[in-house]
Amino acid sequence: MLRQVADGVLIHESEFCQSNAVVVQGRSGVLLIDAGVLGDEMACLANDLGESGQPVVAGFSTHPHWDHLLWHPLLGAAPRYGTARCAATVQARLSDAGAKARVATLIPADIVEQVPLDLLGLITGLPAETTQVPWDGPQIRIIEHQAHAPGHAALLIEERRVLVAGDMLSDVLIPMLNLNGPADPIEDYLAALRLLEGVAADVDVVIPGHGSIGGADQIRTRIGQDRAYVHALRDGGVPDDPRIGPSAKHGWEWVSDVHAGQLQRLARRSERDGTPG
Ligand SMILES: [Zn+2]
Repeated sequence: MLRQVADGVLIHESEFCQSNAVVVQGRSGVLLIDAGVLGDEMACLANDLGESGQPVVAGFSTHPHWDHLLWHPLLGAAPRYGTARCAATVQARLSDAGAKARVATLIPADIVEQVPLDLLGLITGLPAETTQVPWDGPQIRIIEHQAHAPGHAALLIEERRVLVAGDMLSDVLIPMLNLNGPADPIEDYLAALRLLEGVAADVDVVIPGHGSIGGADQIRTRIGQDRAYVHALRDGGVPDDPRIGPSAKHGWEWVSDVHAGQLQRLARRSERDGTPG
């Protein structure tokens, strides 16, 4: 079921991890950002759009993680975009014959049969430094950063005052750092939060990749909360964060394990190269 969150912007929330697919209405059809996770849900979304005469004219993946790279045949054959770095990462990780089997091992066992992988990751990288999504609809600014995954993009739908945050600014998920390579993942994350803070005054609605939609008052709150979490990780403090520990939302207790895992990996990194983070 589609739910309007701003003029011309609708979301479809998945049962999996409260994932938000975002529909932006344009002149000749819609842009679909992070299409969804379960096959049935994407088919339902495709039917809803078809019935209302709104074909999907473009797609966009915010970042190169499997749950943001899916597509369903009923959504059609529109071009699907990502940043150049996102597409290059997909190419490097997912172009070999064993890729889909490998991705299947990352998907929770109870849903893996329901996740269609045939069209996984078929995205076109936009030339580096592209600042707008190329499509016939409201201008959408690409805010690329390297916080959570290589080539991660937040999208600002300027005239609708909506920020599509990808896997940032969630009310249920803590900041999940990209600990797979960058020299300074902590600083990458803080830099991304500064970028998002730079557009906060232009935003009335924030849509996280997973979690609840936030209003104008929420964007700065969430940036502050994420920054406090990252500072605590960096400084070895104990984060006072409602998303982990006993106050975590029911069903999201595993986020505390993610936190423990990040602490461990950061500690191992600093042992290895003698620098914090
Ligand atoms: Zn992600």
